[in-house]
Amino acid sequence: MTAAQTNVPGPLPMVVPAEGLPARVRIHEVGARDGLQNEKATVPTETKAEFIHRLADAGLTTIEATSFVHPEWVPQLADAEQLFPRIQGIEGVDLPVLVPNARGLDRALALGARRVAVFASATESFAKANLNRTVDEALAMFEPVVARAKASEAPDDLVHVRGYLSMCFGDPWEGAVPVPQVVRVCKALLDMGCDELSLGDTIGVATPGHVQALLTALNDGGVPTHLLAVHFHDTYGQALANTLAALRHGVTTVDASAGGLGGCPYAKSATGNLATEDLVWMLHGLGIETGVDLGRLTATSVWMAGRLGRPSPSRTVRALSHQEQ
Ligand code: MG
Repeated sequence: MTAAQTNVPGPLPMVVPAEGLPARVRIHEVGARDGLQNEKATVPTETKAEFIHRLADAGLTTIEATSFVHPEWVPQLADAEQLFPRIQGIEGVDLPVLVPNARGLDRALALGARRVAVFASATESFAKANLNRTVDEALAMFEPVVARAKASEAPDDLVHVRGYLSMCFGDPWEGAVPVPQVVRVCKALLDMGCDELSLGDTIGVATPGHVQALLTALNDGGVPTHLLAVHFHDTYGQALANTLAALRHGVTTVDASAGGLGGCPYAKSATGNLATEDLVWMLHGLGIETGVDLGRLTATSVWMAGRLGRPSPSRTVRALSHQEQ
């Protein structure tokens, strides 16, 4: 495979629709942000820009681009200011960015970002480890950020705010996370003005019944399904089963990472993001539209694996590109 190759010809899934599923799913591609921030190697800005352009060429329309975090916290994404202008103006593509605080929000808005995301935790232990705050202190920190994002919008120029919620199912220190605890934090994020919530299974321990229980509890608590996205990790091989449970419940936005970036099997920081190609194979097999060209996407992930110097952990990428493991 050479860098010039932009399409991997290969088999496509047989299409056999199933009842009770949406006709179309919006994939929220997180490889360039969640993926690369968890890779050991730091990728040059030019390569990131090419990666994002290739993802757009493959038909992805929501591509989370980077994080306006303090450069010392996440050196892999320290080039947000240099990267963001290089990916502007891609027709029909939204480019959300993570903004950890008011300073990050201001940097993002100054460059023209109109989709931003904040990152909260459902558990005290992770809030403490990740943000050195309690859950409520973290929420209090995000409240003015979300308010400021919303205050910067005009009637014909809206700012979309996504609220990430990590550790929605299990927590490495606390074990199983009580469903009512997750519902409480979700409602707080919506109350402060978030337009969408992404429910993260950060350590990949969820199983489909748990997904169903959380989604039902959220509905019962007044949170409608159309505001929810799911963010599954494949650490225990459950990401697609959990996705299917969410689709059956009516969820139509699914987070995934091209090539399974961020889930490098050889790195200690392996987080096991669901690979976009694995997701697309299942969705297309079910006759669900995504707008994604699987061959082009796979070629992009093979190219990026070459830049990172190791094979993609995605099963579908390996099968379609005949990568040796
Ligand atoms: Mg992730």
